[in-house]
Amino acid sequence: ENPAPVTVIGLGPMGAAMARAFLDRGHTVTVWNRTAAKAEPLVALGATAAPTVADALRANELAVLSLTDYAAVYDLLTPAADALAGRVIVNLSSDTPDRAREASAWLAGHGAHHLTGGVQADPSGIGAPGTSTFYSGPREVFDRYADTLSVLTGTDYRGEDPALAPLHYQLGMDLFWTGLAGWLHSVAVARAHGVSAQEFLPQAASTAASLEQMFRFYSPRVDAGEHGGDAERLSMAAASIEHVVDTADRAGVDPALPAAVLALARAGVDRGHADESLTSLLHLLHRA
Ligand code: NDP
Repeated sequence: ENPAPVTVIGLGPMGAAMARAFLDRGHTVTVWNRTAAKAEPLVALGATAAPTVADALRANELAVLSLTDYAAVYDLLTPAADALAGRVIVNLSSDTPDRAREASAWLAGHGAHHLTGGVQADPSGIGAPGTSTFYSGPREVFDRYADTLSVLTGTDYRGEDPALAPLHYQLGMDLFWTGLAGWLHSVAVARAHGVSAQEFLPQAASTAASLEQMFRFYSPRVDAGEHGGDAERLSMAAASIEHVVDTADRAGVDPALPAAVLALARAGVDRGHADESLTSLLHLLHRA
């Protein structure tokens, strides 16, 4: 069976890597990008540059979108809406679950199918083994193009609701950005004391590994609604986090990040959770 012809719209680092991966695997590729010059290296590799978004959509049933966010998706597709009927839009632009669901309704109104995605790889991981992308949307549409999409990364279909792929992507990003910022904060305190990031690295790595152990220990308890303070108590956590804030402050490092965690822990103590686990803060995190 011949590889399916595919349109790629949005040629940032990610979209360009995707177009290259399709070309490498023998797909006929049509590309479009707002900044037209970014199409040139791909045309040199055999892609066809469409003059307009509408032309790019009409060229193939399948169009992969790789744009900054859904605002950019509407900017591009609204003027080309007449070309959407019958198309399969695989939207690998990141945004919120709600916006993904809204966009699916909007696209359905124009007769197009929408598969949403969340790519868990950087551009160097596109076409490489061991990477994965969440997908959601109509199962039958996903199944039709699953082999084609597996050219990019492994595929992890999460369900019919188009909000699911961006939801699972955002769950990872939530932990990723707050965790990475936490690491950066500890590096700032280390450096303020003349300890380099590399000197701190073995300890950073073992702390990260202990976090995974915490996730494994607490996940079943959280799911069971158990927040017992047998392993650690929130009052202890609040005192410990206060030391972190003070240590940063005295080192001349902005303590805003741990201070936000301290404020949350203190609010939990004030609400009567002092003898429970830190996980009892879930009661405060959920805004009823
Ligand atoms: P970039 O922001 O570098 O590229 C985005 C693309 O969107 C460019 O083609 C840009 O066009 C286009 N664009 C943005 N705004 C508009 C607009 N208003 N109208 C028309 N075109 C617009 O992003 P990446 O290529 O790095 O990533 C693409 C998507 O993939 C993002 O949603 C990102 O979150 C996601 N992603 C990226 C990863 C990465 O490591 N890069 C990792 C995982 C996901 P122009 O060239 O003209 O500026």
